[in-house]
Amino acid sequence: MAKHIFVTGGVASSIGKGLTAASLGRLLKCRGLRVTLQKLDPYINVDPGTMNPSQHGEVFVTEDGGETDLDLGHYERFIDENLHRDSSVTTGSIYSSVLAKERRGDYLGDTVQVIPHITNEIKERIRRLATDDVDVVITEVGGTVGDIEILPFLDAIRQFRNDVGRDNVAYVHVTLVPYLGPSGEQKTKPTQHSVTELRARGIQPDTIVCRSDRPISLGVKRKISLLCDVPEKAVVSAVDARNLYEIPLVLHEEGLDEYLCSILRLDGAAHAPELGSWEALVRRVEASTTPVKIGLVGKYSLPDAYLSVVEALRHGGFASGAHVSIDFIDAGEVEGLLVESRLRNLDGIVIPGGFGPRAIEGKIAAAGYAREHEIPCLGLCLGMQTMVIDFARNVCGLAGANSSEFDPDSPHPVIDLMDEQREIVDFGGTQRLGLYPARLRPGSQVAAAYGAALVYERHRHRYECNPRYRRRLEDAGLLQVGTSPDDRLVEFVELAGHPFWIGTQAHPEFKSRPDRPHPLFKAFMAAALCRAEGRAPHLLQLDTSGLNFESAV
Ligand code: GLN
Repeated sequence: MAKHIFVTGGVASSIGKGLTAASLGRLLKCRGLRVTLQKLDPYINVDPGTMNPSQHGEVFVTEDGGETDLDLGHYERFIDENLHRDSSVTTGSIYSSVLAKERRGDYLGDTVQVIPHITNEIKERIRRLATDDVDVVITEVGGTVGDIEILPFLDAIRQFRNDVGRDNVAYVHVTLVPYLGPSGEQKTKPTQHSVTELRARGIQPDTIVCRSDRPISLGVKRKISLLCDVPEKAVVSAVDARNLYEIPLVLHEEGLDEYLCSILRLDGAAHAPELGSWEALVRRVEASTTPVKIGLVGKYSLPDAYLSVVEALRHGGFASGAHVSIDFIDAGEVEGLLVESRLRNLDGIVIPGGFGPRAIEGKIAAAGYAREHEIPCLGLCLGMQTMVIDFARNVCGLAGANSSEFDPDSPHPVIDLMDEQREIVDFGGTQRLGLYPARLRPGSQVAAAYGAALVYERHRHRYECNPRYRRRLEDAGLLQVGTSPDDRLVEFVELAGHPFWIGTQAHPEFKSRPDRPHPLFKAFMAAALCRAEGRAPHLLQLDTSGLNFESAV
């Protein structure tokens, strides 16, 4: 039977519950346990797909096409397992199911209430993850104790312990222990208050993870232990780490995984953690010191809006010893005379995904500047589309070329909806979501970077490269080196003769892992590093003769 660990948070939002849950997942996996993670989000949206990234960060896309919370990205990067749409639950999705059941008459005339109907639905979603091939389900409850929206979730996880037995559930509460300069002290009161709030909901935490900017003293631990009624060894000091991949090691040092294994009686199933490869990763992260400046030309200033891209760039850097410093450039500023001054000093440019027309001309200008000045440039989804638009306008001479997303009357809609999609639009279900294959052209830079002939990447978009312009673009040098296996959709483009001007309709950033950097990001960072070191980036080449491109699909 699977064990359950619930992670809640107190005192402040963005306290690091997601990273705590993800790190714990890694530690348990290093002990030989089969782990999965889940996020319960109290907001009312059915999924984060419709939420503005400037408010809630990026939308993380799972292999099965779920549009989920960005914490799932942390989970996947730390535990190195692909999660699915069921790994992300929101109040909106819970109510949708309950209301659908109510309409169908499933409740047989019952008055439908928060307890038990909503809490039962929440528990059902948690139970769904506890399959035969999972030893531990870690469930993070989003929000902060004390929030109005969180109450049904807290009640559900409280009930859960009674349902599955005390030894099968542990509660981890993450809080903040602030240091007050004038008094020179670390303060425990916020932690006490948030634990009191949690207890008022019937949950006594088993361990308290204390976030702080400096290690918390034994005295402070004792105080928290006494006042919050947890053993001293269950008070964990989670001091700010030098980099986020160090967090599992910090928590292990504090004995968190060992303590949880003992209270969940996992001692039999788990062995001592094998942390060697993770420690090697952390050493690699720390040794990645050569500064490489990447401009991320987007429209949100919030780094979380591009979290997986940022992490994938960092991973790519670890592979070649590069330390990425990211300049978040508002594409709205990349216009006219400003283009040169904003982009000139960059070692590489990334144009990420996005929706809507705002600042689109700046992104197109950035793609063009990188093309003309041989700056390594990676276009992701919308980023690839802006590269195609730039190339169509400025190399093929197709004045007014655009995506029909931004200019429905463009004389040259080089990016457009596919005919069959046009019909679907009326029905609403319009996005291409989740994992799709692409066949790569032998000898191309993209195939060299991947070292593969057939690749699978995650997608989230509506528009495509317009088939009517493919020939013209190709003849002028924009090589469509990756396509859907039936050759209908363009998945990858690269510019002949440029050291690295590569775009993909996919979102490869979602598959990058710290210890397995994504090949495209690795190749991009290698090219940017060359530029940073004043070496001419060389064309990517690889002997692809061993790869079977013909029978790949
Ligand atoms: N807006 C574009 C489309 O729908 C790109 C989407 C994206 O970058 N994720 O095709």
